[in-house]
Amino acid sequence: MDKTNGYDIEKIYNYDEYPDVHSGRCDNCGGSHFESKVGDGKFLRECRKCGMKKLI
Ligand SMILES: [Zn+2]
Repeated sequence: MDKTNGYDIEKIYNYDEYPDVHSGRCDNCGGSHFESKVGDGKFLRECRKCGMKKLI
């Protein structure tokens, strides 16, 4: 498994509290491929590589 930054992939992070360290990149693994779902008027962005989720 690739090295990650220790984010909990079971948790849904919030962009307000956890803005992207590098815009458009996953904070956990640095990946740039995401899957987006709409929910509660927000986008849930899930990293395709490590599965980290963030509400944007
Ligand atoms: Zn990731």
